[in-house]
Amino acid sequence: MKKIIIIGSGIGGSGIGALIANYNKAEVTLFEKNNILGGRCGSYIKKDDQGRKWLFDVGCHTMATCDKGPLGTILEKIGKKDSVKWSYTRNPEPSQNFMGMEIREKKKTKTKRISKRIRLIDEIVKMSDEEIEKWNYFSLQEFFNEKLGSSHVIQTLIHSLQAGICFGNLPTEISAGEYLKSIKINALIMNHGSPVGGGYPMGGCGVIPETYCQCITENDGNIIMGKDGNVRKIIIKDNEVKGVEAGPDKKFYEADIIISNSDIKTTVLNLVGEKFFSKEYVKYIKDLKWGLQVCTLKLGIDKVITDQKHITYVPPINQEDGMEQALAWIAEGMSEIDLSEIEVPETSTLLIIPVSNHDPSLAPKGCQNIHTTTPTSFGKIMNWDKKSDEKWRKCCLNSLISLWPDLEDHIIISDFFSTNILSARFGKEGVGIGISQSKDQAFEKRPSQISPIKGLFYCSADAGGWGIGTELAAESALELWEYFQSKQWK
Ligand SMILES: Cc1cc2nc3c(=O)[nH]c(=O)nc-3n(C[C@H](O)[C@H](O)[C@H](O)COP(=O)(O)OP(=O)(O)OC[C@H]3O[C@@H](n4cnc5c(N)ncnc54)[C@H](O)[C@@H]3O)c2cc1C
Repeated sequence: MKKIIIIGSGIGGSGIGALIANYNKAEVTLFEKNNILGGRCGSYIKKDDQGRKWLFDVGCHTMATCDKGPLGTILEKIGKKDSVKWSYTRNPEPSQNFMGMEIREKKKTKTKRISKRIRLIDEIVKMSDEEIEKWNYFSLQEFFNEKLGSSHVIQTLIHSLQAGICFGNLPTEISAGEYLKSIKINALIMNHGSPVGGGYPMGGCGVIPETYCQCITENDGNIIMGKDGNVRKIIIKDNEVKGVEAGPDKKFYEADIIISNSDIKTTVLNLVGEKFFSKEYVKYIKDLKWGLQVCTLKLGIDKVITDQKHITYVPPINQEDGMEQALAWIAEGMSEIDLSEIEVPETSTLLIIPVSNHDPSLAPKGCQNIHTTTPTSFGKIMNWDKKSDEKWRKCCLNSLISLWPDLEDHIIISDFFSTNILSARFGKEGVGIGISQSKDQAFEKRPSQISPIKGLFYCSADAGGWGIGTELAAESALELWEYFQSKQWK
């Protein structure tokens, strides 16, 4: 039997691990350096002062196509479709609170502006796959310019916001094809007007990678976590993988195939080392662009403050010139901004998922569990210091307070992952997703999952795949699995 080592239990790592283990023709060992499974899609429990349990997600709070998309496909392929129950974002549908205007994702809507926006979604749904593919290597901004011109600033802004949440990037960068394909599929199979309004797995997002990992152990695979699961080096000889060194004692584990779910830059530059690759390949890896960095605040509150399941929130901008500036900024594709001058703002755009409205068991009775994510960079990787981390926490809180003024009086527990914490614990310099799905890095232009070293593969939101967040990583696993079936085990 081939010995397969997987580095990392994120959706990509646990997904490919489950697919291989379920096939039962290889010996799978998965290493995870954290004490929880799932990476950015993991969940963990925190206890409040009364000893009550709250389930918090590391990052991901909503899944676009739930059981009907690639996350569900993996579950189905490993025979665990029924192990995960889903709450779709319905009753109420996703809403957008946009500078004080409440916009609900309903198909029939009264206001003119919004019905125009829905019509754009309808138009996208009617586009053929070939028409959409033509946009793969153009930016969303270019698509908006052609479809909406410069007169629909608000509509452009709202779509840009949605796309930013889905793909963690700016409209000037995001591949229009990624957005169009995802929005079309989501609208068709989830019957939503929003590509991010999918749903939530009961029990928390971590249920998905945990179920994948369960499949690995049920099929005699091995999972090594925590300090012992920290892979320090991938050993290469004669351009072929030999195994890994892991844990404090740098114990050697032999492997015929190594699949890295650790980020692609760390894998190449640190775990393997530059000297094992050509100069061109090292340059290519170094030049790959990340998506936006993020931070995430989770709050447990002692009352039910909202009935919503999914809110995209843009706080009001008070000064008139601020509003004009913001709109002009988006309309011009954010090109005029000097990124080195950006300070931590007082308030910011948030994706808010009150997860206990999906699954009431995630908060004590009568309480609410609210998760938020906000971007902390805009097109350039930022090195935020510790003081800035605290400012970002305040920024998230201020934004929530501007939506619910008495919120602060009701907080009983909270947790905050700054960009620095995300980077230190889960890599990728603290970006939300991974290697950006920009027009020059999407679809055929994504990094290949097959490395130049024999037996070394990448499987994550950094290589291969397409789609939104977790689904990009799940697609990466499905694509690699297809490759293995056709090439490795033929
Ligand atoms: C705050 C936040 C909010 C998000 N919201 C959403 C959302 O609402 N919807 C959505 O679909 N997506 C969301 N995402 C994105 C989504 O979570 C990611 O795109 C996806 O989970 C990435 O999966 P991955 O397979 O690339 O691996 P990752 O999740 O990046 O996991 C990689 C794993 O590898 C491990 N690892 C790394 N190096 C080593 C090593 N040397 N040894 C052992 N283990 C190692 C890490 O510890 C980690 O567990 C969000 C992300 C964040 C951060």
